Amino acid sequence: MEKVIGIDLGTFNSCVAVVEGGTPTIIANRGGYKVTPSMVAVTETGKRLVGHIAKRQAVTNAENTVYAAKRLIGRKFDSPQVRNAIATSPYAIVEGPSGDCRIRLRDEVYSIPEISAMILKELRSVAEDYLGTQVTKAVITVPAYFNDNQRQATKDAGAIAGLDVIRIINEPTAAALSFGFGKNIDRTVAVYDLGGGTFDISILEISSNGVFKVVSTAGDSFLGGEDFDQQIIDWLVQGFREEHGIDLRKDRMALQRLKDAAEKAKCELSVAQETEINLPFIISGGANEALHLQRTLTRAEFEELTADLVERTIQICEHTLEDAGLEKDEIDDLILVGGMTRMPAVQAAVSAWLEKPPCKGVHPDEVVALGAAIQGAALLDQIPDQEMVLLDVTPLRLGIMVKGGLVEELIPQNTTVPTSRTKRFTTVRDNQTAVKILVLQGESEQAKDNELLGEFELTGLRAAKAGEVELEVTFEINADGIVSVHAKDMDTGKAQSIMVTASSGLTREEIERMTRSAEQHAVAQRSDEESQKVRQEVESAIARLEGLFPEVEAAFAGSDFGKDALSRAQNVIGVSREAVSRGDIHRMREQLEALERARRGLAGMLGKP
Ligand code: AMP
Repeated sequence: MEKVIGIDLGTFNSCVAVVEGGTPTIIANRGGYKVTPSMVAVTETGKRLVGHIAKRQAVTNAENTVYAAKRLIGRKFDSPQVRNAIATSPYAIVEGPSGDCRIRLRDEVYSIPEISAMILKELRSVAEDYLGTQVTKAVITVPAYFNDNQRQATKDAGAIAGLDVIRIINEPTAAALSFGFGKNIDRTVAVYDLGGGTFDISILEISSNGVFKVVSTAGDSFLGGEDFDQQIIDWLVQGFREEHGIDLRKDRMALQRLKDAAEKAKCELSVAQETEINLPFIISGGANEALHLQRTLTRAEFEELTADLVERTIQICEHTLEDAGLEKDEIDDLILVGGMTRMPAVQAAVSAWLEKPPCKGVHPDEVVALGAAIQGAALLDQIPDQEMVLLDVTPLRLGIMVKGGLVEELIPQNTTVPTSRTKRFTTVRDNQTAVKILVLQGESEQAKDNELLGEFELTGLRAAKAGEVELEVTFEINADGIVSVHAKDMDTGKAQSIMVTASSGLTREEIERMTRSAEQHAVAQRSDEESQKVRQEVESAIARLEGLFPEVEAAFAGSDFGKDALSRAQNVIGVSREAVSRGDIHRMREQLEALERARRGLAGMLGKP
């Protein structure tokens, strides 16, 4: 029975889990760590590094090391988030052919799903090593507030990594699944998820008959750990300007160092009452004068700087509870997810709001992957004696653009998915033969403030009087939260072929090409690792053989027999070294046998085994 893995593809760290014998388990990577940094790098020799090894060389190879690619996935190049990332990222973010963003590493340009695929591939291989079998199926989680473009791009990443993504599920929902799994409880839970770039809150009902129903979800995809970092950066920049009259923001390198230091300080303040930020030689003050930045930030000061951000999350929580039609005392449990919930002030604010402490025993880094693995196993009926149904909702309203640049709602926020809505359109002008429709996702009444998922044109309509030609368009959101659109010409009953712009910015052909390239790369990497292994075996065999030389020389001093035996052994070593220097793996393997024969020959002469 093939296993399905659950993957939490995080902004900073990722995690993989599987259900074994009915129990969900986190799979540790080769280094023994349960989380793998979501980092990818390309070395000078063109080698791809993923996870801890990419992180270890990040400082010395910053321009070719990608972190936090999740902030960019499914986003347009000209979006505010991408502009912000360009200003602070050491790696080059460039515009893709369809307005998406891409990353240049050394001489190659990669799409964001390709980068994410490298992380997914690594997690897949961690799981394969652990399970000892091939893994092709996965459930991947995304923030509840991800829009269609971001979900689609995440699915594309899975495909490039050679994974059949059987379901995309929301991170808070996965957390609740993991929390309620196997407990046979009837409870209403709130999942507060504050990650690196996004915030969301979900209210779920868990029932003892195995139904996990999301009642409401809301969030802010512009609010996350990075905004907390930004507050520290602004505080540092302002202080420096007051002292030296220099704007550090104008220096890319300085800004990058500020950003790293700010995040580090933030994390330290989760455990310490104060932290020192020390950045020597941050910038030149002119006339060979190097300036240093050194400041102390206390937890109280940091909490003051970020109080507004925390308050914003609480306001969203309030709305969500209202939407769910619930009172605070009707929430039984509070679950905290996401790295930012380690900040004491965040924990205190949420607990104060809900008037209850967060659940203990829920690991914020692992709970999401565990939930994904549970959902995967349930979808494949691999959880014995346990019925499980997951009913999630769409976090964002789906609509179309109508006159005056406004939005007409088709599927409201918090509608249980899968769902569909059909709408009839008629022509508005005489002899109109085409209708253009813009599909939007978001909460604003103004079309321009929503995410444009795609635009399509219904063409080839019969030329007739205005209002005579009717079209039926069906908008669908599947269980992954992914949107699709179908249209029918009511005149002819024929399905209209509609083109929705490829939402992740990748076409089918591109995804296929990237999948092939990722596969070829993996094969090259495997053969590279294999050749490295054989090379080491040859070196050891040579060392073993040479180790016998002094004894043979001593035992057969001056005899032709001894000289001949040593000269033959030298020959074998020479041929072996040549095979190593040419990287000829086939020849190296042959020489391994020859070296062993030579060793046995010399050992035999010495009366050894
Ligand atoms: P996630 O997206 O769940 O991986 O969360 C990542 C965010 O959590 C980043 O903004 C991190 O800086 C932040 N984070 C991680 N560890 C801590 C910590 N100990 N204290 C405060 N924030 C943290």
